[in-house]
Amino acid sequence: MQALADHLAQQLADGYPAEYLTGQAAFCDIVLRVWEGVLVPRPETEHIVQMAEDFIVEEGRSGAVVLDLCSGSGAIALALASRLPQVSVVGMELDPVSVSCSRESALDMGLSNRVRFVQGNVLTAWALTIAEFRSHVDVIVSNPPYVCGQRLAGAHACSPLEPVGALYGGTSGMTFFKRIVAQAGDWLRPGGMLLLEIDDGLEQSILGQFKRYGLQGGRWSPDLRGLPRYAEAHRAT
Ligand code: GLN
Repeated sequence: MQALADHLAQQLADGYPAEYLTGQAAFCDIVLRVWEGVLVPRPETEHIVQMAEDFIVEEGRSGAVVLDLCSGSGAIALALASRLPQVSVVGMELDPVSVSCSRESALDMGLSNRVRFVQGNVLTAWALTIAEFRSHVDVIVSNPPYVCGQRLAGAHACSPLEPVGALYGGTSGMTFFKRIVAQAGDWLRPGGMLLLEIDDGLEQSILGQFKRYGLQGGRWSPDLRGLPRYAEAHRAT
């Protein structure tokens, strides 16, 4: 027993995420499965869930269809579905390990009838995997890989055992955002919302992309540290 405790303590001291040891991560009001290869959800991402919930409630879109791009552990998708009993969510994720993990969490939570995770590449044509949702989505949420080349070593050093592919957003950090913003208008219903978690320093580029692709009311908002962290825009009504 002591040997096990010492081993676990050493793993924690070496930077092994506590969530990988327990196989669980707390996020909003739910507990998710996580294991090696799956990015542990971050506290700042909880606010995305709140923003999406506020929009759905305020707009009276109780049966909303939500698309979660780069859904990872499924944190955003599952937290939102657990709060709003009539929404349905489709999560799209490239990494098969994360897809399996999120599907298990959905089963644990009894949400697999309303939350579906598909394996797909956000950087290619979405119609390959989610064609039936074209023009039918009320909210697109996404916390894609967005760490830029310059910041990658630092971000990865904070948690060296987490998948770097879940963090790296290309040299400028914009690779996923460009693709997501370019396609969002085709998938949203009129008035639907695109909601992104972003890195500080990317906000002006993202607002530029919103304009370029005809999305309206683009704005960013800060996280608890005051850094630009969220960006939203809408398809015209
Ligand atoms: N905020 C995350 C981190 O620090 C990055 C998440 C992402 O790229 N989506 O590590």
